[in-house]
This record gives sequence, structure tokens and C-alpha cells, in this order.
Amino acid sequence: MSKSMNDDKNVTRSKIIDGNALASEIRDEVAEHVLQMKREHGVTPGLNLLLVGNDAASEVYVRYKSKDCEKVGITSTIVRLPPEATQAEVVEIIRAWNADNAVHGILVQLPLPKHIDEQTVLQTVAPEKDVDGFHPINAGRLLIGLPGFLPCTPAGVLEMLKRSKIETAGKHAVIVGRSNIVGKPLASLLAQKRPQGNATVTVCHTQTRNLHEHTLRADILIAAIGVPNAITADHVADGAVVIDVGINRMTADDGTSKLVGDVDFAAVLDKVSAITPVPGGVGPMTRAMLLKNTMQGAERFIAKDAS
Ligand code: NAP
Repeated sequence: MSKSMNDDKNVTRSKIIDGNALASEIRDEVAEHVLQMKREHGVTPGLNLLLVGNDAASEVYVRYKSKDCEKVGITSTIVRLPPEATQAEVVEIIRAWNADNAVHGILVQLPLPKHIDEQTVLQTVAPEKDVDGFHPINAGRLLIGLPGFLPCTPAGVLEMLKRSKIETAGKHAVIVGRSNIVGKPLASLLAQKRPQGNATVTVCHTQTRNLHEHTLRADILIAAIGVPNAITADHVADGAVVIDVGINRMTADDGTSKLVGDVDFAAVLDKVSAITPVPGGVGPMTRAMLLKNTMQGAERFIAKDAS
């Protein structure tokens, strides 16, 4: 291979933000901290996961999360309820976990079956154990810049930018997507007056006219859309940083399937200064932040116990 081809390959590789490597760094840090907590306080962080119904993807996610816990020394317990479980049963389990001092994090895997009201369930989780950051108290604390649990995906994106030394202050961040779990909290975090914030933020959605006119002005473009390859080269300015939150399964005619993001990775690669791949980008960071949140839940428990 010629030297210039090798150089091109190295440039390309250096643009790709390796979510797996960053997540592994975070897991190592959490594992060290967990050991310290056990040694100094006799506390093992505990995460309880509730899965209602038979959704295959949810089953996989819950198992991954539990395995991640195992890797870093966090105790995890999965409770599975059948699809016909009642809201009262779900609420009762969460209340018992709220009162259990060995449980420092509670995660209710979404989606819940239709007959169960998601908000009622999420609001039953004690805010100090709400490691998904979905409780309105944590959402409100995030908005006004108070400490609390940050939702894992937005927290993972910020952590990625920080560890990749991508400055947000004074930059124009354009977020496509305004969901409660990704777009809205990210917009709020990036606009906060503090490090990893101080960006000028634009939020786009399905009612946005001429999407590309907004995205082309982005220094940092974040796609959280849920539409495969929705962001093309026409949406991306030269030198932009592109964070692809999307995870979409695409099935080919021959029946094989693969995960793709919301960004047409190959088409924009030449233009960007940095980009996250799918898989191996934001996904592993989200999982790592759940571990970090659970560890922080245990830390707060220790601090409260000592006061
Ligand atoms: P969501 O609740 O469905 O929200 C999607 C957002 O994108 C909505 O605000 C929607 O606008 C907007 N949108 C959809 N099509 C659009 C278009 N053509 N142009 C402009 N905006 C458009 O999705 P989500 O939960 O935020 O998830 C988004 C993606 O991220 C999904 O692929 C999901 O699987 C993935 N995800 C990944 C992780 C991870 O760990 N990597 C975590 C969470 C989610 P409206 O509000 O107007 O409908």
C-alpha cells in the first residue's frame, strides 16, 4: 500500500470517535471506585432492573445491562413480570425497592405494555434511585443546573465530547430530535452555563422547515431521529463534529440485518472533523453511564448515611 493511502486511512481512523474504547475507560474507573466503596464503606452498589412483558429487544438490553454491572462489581437483579402484570403489581415492586437500602439504582425497562401508564411507573421510582434520570424531579434539576441523575444517553454524549477534547463553549450545536430521553435533555445540558455547556443550541424536529439550512450551520451536529441515514452529506458542513445517536435495524433482501445510525456515515466521513460510528459510538457510552449513575447512587447513599 502506498504511503498516501496509509495516511488517508490514518486520517479517517483519527476522525472516528471510538465509543467502545471510551466506555471501557469509564468501566475501569467505575470498577476501581466500586472496589474503594466496598473497602472503605462496606457498600456494594446495587442496580435492580424491572422487565415487564416479552419484548425480545428489551430482554437483550436488560441482559447487557446486567452483564455490564457484573464486569465492574455492581450487584444487579433482574425481575421479570409477564405481559399481563398489572400497574399495581409494578408499582408495588418499585416501592419495595425504594425502601431497600441494598438497592441504589432502579431501572424500569421501556416500553411497558400499553395497559400500564409509563409516567405513573417512572414517577414511582424514588428520585435518588432514578438512574435513568427520567423522574420529573431529575429532569427539573437538569434543566436548572442542579446535581441529579442525568439521563444516560445525553450524559454519554457529553462525556464523549469531553474525553475527545471537543470544546462546546461558543459552538453552535444543532440537535435533530426533541424526545424527552435524548433531544430535550441534551439541548438543555449543552446550553448550561458551565463546562461541557455554553453552546448555542438549535433543536430541530419534524415541523422544522428546510432542515439542512439549520444543520449546515452546526459546528456540532447531533442526530437523534430514529430514521436510518436521514442525515446526508447535504446536511453537514465541512469540519463539523457529528454525533449519531440513532440505532436502527436494517434488514437486507437476503434476510441479513445490521444496525445503522441516523447519519449516512460513509457519505459524510470526508466532510467531518469527528464522527461517532454505529454501532460502537453512543450506544456503549449510554451503557457505561448507567454504571456511573448507579455508582453515584451508592455514593449518595453513603453520604446520606454518614450525615
Ligand atoms: P423518538 O422519541 O422517536 O424521537 C425522534 C425525534 O426525531 C422526534 O423529536 C421527531 O420529531 C424527530 N424526527 C423524526 N423524523 C424526523 C425528520 N425526518 N426530520 C427531523 N426530525 C425528525 O426517538 P428517541 O427515543 O429520541 O431516539 C432517537 C434514535 O436514537 C432512535 O434511533 C433510537 O433507537 C436511538 N437511541 C439510541 C440510544 C443510544 O444509546 N445510542 C439511546 C436512545 C435512543 P417530532 O418530535 O416532531 O416527532
